[in-house]
Amino acid sequence: MHQIGSGYPPATTSIANRLMNDKLPPSVALQMPHDEHLNDGSGENALHPQGTGPDRPEALSALGRPMSEQIRARIRSAGARFHANDNIAGFIRPGELEALVLEVQARMESVLQSLVIDTEGDHNTQETGRRVARMFVHEVFRGRYHAMPSMTEFPNVSNLNELMIIGPVTVRSACSHHLCPIMGEVWIGVMPNEHSNLIGLSKFARVADWIMSRPQIQEEAVVQLADILQEKMSPDGLAIVMEADHFCMHWRGVKDVGSRMINSVMRGSFLKDANLRREFLSLIQSKRA
Ligand SMILES: [Zn+2]
Repeated sequence: MHQIGSGYPPATTSIANRLMNDKLPPSVALQMPHDEHLNDGSGENALHPQGTGPDRPEALSALGRPMSEQIRARIRSAGARFHANDNIAGFIRPGELEALVLEVQARMESVLQSLVIDTEGDHNTQETGRRVARMFVHEVFRGRYHAMPSMTEFPNVSNLNELMIIGPVTVRSACSHHLCPIMGEVWIGVMPNEHSNLIGLSKFARVADWIMSRPQIQEEAVVQLADILQEKMSPDGLAIVMEADHFCMHWRGVKDVGSRMINSVMRGSFLKDANLRREFLSLIQSKRA
């Protein structure tokens, strides 16, 4: 794997990480429902009655453990990893995501309060905690909390053994370091053999979106995408090139508007056969130009 463009500073223990790992201090203890309340389909408001919030005394009498703590305990006892770009859907039971949204909402409201924003008086930010919580869990980071989209593989009955190129597939993500948007595109090259499975064209976009809808690191994202496609298709060769704009470079930091990051993964015949690799790279180059 090679990469062109800027590197990031090495990951350090972030405040978010510490928050995740620490017990909640009493001042942000959350009122979270028990499991049996979650499956009654009564919706989120029943779980977060009006007039309660992280800053109000009635919310401080915790009824149970925060949802995140319960999910985290399951992941830990399974010995699984829960980095920002890992999918944890298998550890979340039906109904629990809405409780998780409420917990994130309460914590987002706390962040806004710590930023000394008058979320009660300022009509623009009254609902921001809720909006951001829903956006994180159900939209921009849905690839962490929702299961992989179904991908029907079918046998390569025509014995296709020619280079297939899929792209550009638009990718949207956020960097793990700043949670700033990453916008870009990905190209996928597949060299099938007679034993390979094939998947429908639209599935490449769906699975790429599922991988990218997490706080990501571009160089890890391309590997995650390659691993899944390798597992589903078992091709002779697989090539992935991702080129993306990192908004943490534009909006903050060096404020460099021109920098993009390109990562590639080459496996199997793309690694061994320089001609095949050249063919793939020159074909996508002509389309990217
Ligand atoms: Zn960043």
